[in-house]
This record gives sequence, C-alpha cells and structure tokens, in this order.
Amino acid sequence: MKLEDKVALVTGAGSGIGRAIALRFAEEGARVVVNDLTRERAEKTVGELPDGRGRAMAADVSDSAQVRAMFEAVERAYGQLDILVNNAGIGSSRPGEWSEVRQRADARVMEAVSGQGITTHLDVTMNMTDEVWHRMIAVHLNGTFYCTREALRLMSRENRGAIVNLSSIAAWGLEAVPHYSAAKGGILAFTRAVAREVASRNIRVNAICPGYIDTPMTEAMSPLMKKSLLARTPMARMADPSEVAATALFLASDESSFFTGQWLSPNGGLFIG
Ligand code: NAP
Repeated sequence: MKLEDKVALVTGAGSGIGRAIALRFAEEGARVVVNDLTRERAEKTVGELPDGRGRAMAADVSDSAQVRAMFEAVERAYGQLDILVNNAGIGSSRPGEWSEVRQRADARVMEAVSGQGITTHLDVTMNMTDEVWHRMIAVHLNGTFYCTREALRLMSRENRGAIVNLSSIAAWGLEAVPHYSAAKGGILAFTRAVAREVASRNIRVNAICPGYIDTPMTEAMSPLMKKSLLARTPMARMADPSEVAATALFLASDESSFFTGQWLSPNGGLFIG
C-alpha cells in the first residue's frame, strides 16, 4: 500500500489514462477524488473503485471558478490534499477536426513510403481558427495552472505533496497538432518552474510524457497512421493505460522522494531523449 492515508485528485479520470490512475491509486490505499467534465462519467469510475475509496466531482478544468469550487469541496470532504494528477485533456478542439487532417496524413505516409517525396501538405497551422487554438490551450495549460494553484494552497498548509502533470512526447513537436504540442510543451516548462518554486515546501512536481497509449483519444488515428506509428516504435505496440498509471504511482508516491522537476516517458522506445 504505497498511498495509504493519502488523498488524491485525478482530473479527467472518467476515461483512459485518468481512469487507470484512479484505479491504481485506490488499489494502493488512496482516497481518490475522480474529476471529469460530467458527474456521470466520474461516477462510472468511482463505481469501479473499492468501496469508500472514491468520490466523483464534476468540473471543467478550463474554468477557474469551477476548479476553485471543486477544491473547496475537496477541503470540506477531506481537509487535506496530498496528490494532484493533472490529466484532463482533449485530442481535438472541435468535432471533425481530425477527419480532415487524417486524409492528408494518410496520403503523406503513402508518399513517404513510395520514396518519391512528400507533396501533400498538412497546412494545419495556417488554417487553424482562434477558437480551436484557445480551447486546446485552455483545457491543457490553463487547466493545469488552475488546478495546481488550488492544490498548492491546500498542500502548503502541511508543507507536503506531489503533483504529476500529463505532458506528452508532443512537447517535442508532433506534426498535425501544433496547438496540442504547444500546450504539452507549456505543461513541461510549467512543471519545471513550479518544481523549483515549491521544493522548499516539500512539494514535488513532475511530468509524464507518454508516447501512444490505447485510449479513446488515440481512436481518432487512422489504421494507416497506427501502422506507421508502430513501425517507428521499437516495442511495436501502443501501451495500455495501466502502464502510464504505474509511472504516475511512482511519481506520486514516496518511492520517488528525490524526484522533482523531472519527466518520465513511457513510450516503447518511440522517443529516446
Ligand atoms: P481520454 O481517454 O480522452 O480521457 C480524457 C478525459 O479528460 C475524458 O474523460 C475527458 O472527458 C476529460 N476531459 C476533457 N476535457 C476536460 C475538462 N475541460 N475538464 C475535465 N475533464 C476533461 O484521453 P487519454 O488518452 O486518457 O488522455 C489523458 C491525458 O494523457 C491527456 O492529458 C492527454 O493529452 C495525455 N496523453 C495521452 C496520450 C495517448 O496516447 N492517449 C499520449 C500522451 C499524453 P470527455 O471525454 O467528455 O472529453
């Protein structure tokens, strides 16, 4: 039981990686606040946790007032917060965003394989609307800031805590998703800056930069994109969300007591930094 007596809040825990983290943390003895956009989604994950270990709280992490109200509810319910996982995220900002890019990305894979040069252009950045850009930054980067700010206010009372931020290998630049890459790069820089700031309070802040994980988010990829990705991944598979949850457990627990401002990347060898 690596998280006995700990209270953890995991954002976006109604699905994918967040759900797997909530399950793993609860197995390790934590009481877990399961956040998601809707109460129904959060309740579904709570229903999978051991009795009494989970509590659902709906909030949009991109809305600072909703985030503040959620942390006030955590304080009322538990009087403490030991672990925050900033996991909530979106792969696209509007319905249909990916279907347009997918065709061009597929064409580029075929062109690259043919060896004749790439003549299909992605043209994502020059055609991106303000709204699509802002929503991506709002959920990932603003959400991470809003939740971290509130968590630090609670953790500073006891001068202890661990924050784990979901960045991505996209932080190093992933084609077709400049807004997502910018948000994830921002999260990594934020992680490093805040880690330096709050180390004197015995609060550790680290990031996970996963490669491709088999979740609803990656279902948007075409079969050809997946094949091309697996061909470039030395372990030739996507990860299960539980493999990211194991990384989150390490960074959230005392096992990583001398880690702060660091990133770990479960990615099957796709990116070796
Ligand atoms: P997922 O299965 O789509 O889960 C994300 C969850 O976050 C969903 O339940 C989603 O709700 C929720 N969410 C979205 N916007 C929210 C908001 N504003 N406030 C609260 N909750 C919100 O995705 P995932 O693959 O598990 O991704 C989890 C995190 O890992 C994300 O930060 C993602 O960028 C990162 N990541 C994923 C991969 C990968 O390959 N899957 C790789 C690297 C990093 P809705 O479904 O209702 O939108």
